[in-house]
Amino acid sequence: MEKKLRVRIDYNRCVGSTLCIHLAPRVFGLNEKRQSAVVNASGDTPERICAAAEQCPVSAITVEDAITGRQLFP
Ligand code: SF4
Repeated sequence: MEKKLRVRIDYNRCVGSTLCIHLAPRVFGLNEKRQSAVVNASGDTPERICAAAEQCPVSAITVEDAITGRQLFP
């Protein structure tokens, strides 16, 4: 069964580098404050979403399994 994810952005940290958007463009977009916004948490594989989260220069992205609540990243 496909994993359902909960992806969160810490807006106190996000500096709008757009790295996550380049790495997973179907998942992340820019909001009106030019920070990252989750547009579709199912837009890519958990592996690619976690890889994008890992590249965030300010560690603003948290990824959880939406069903079990288990934290997948960090
Ligand atoms: S990589 Fe991190 S800092 Fe850059 S836009 Fe995404 S969440 Fe924000």
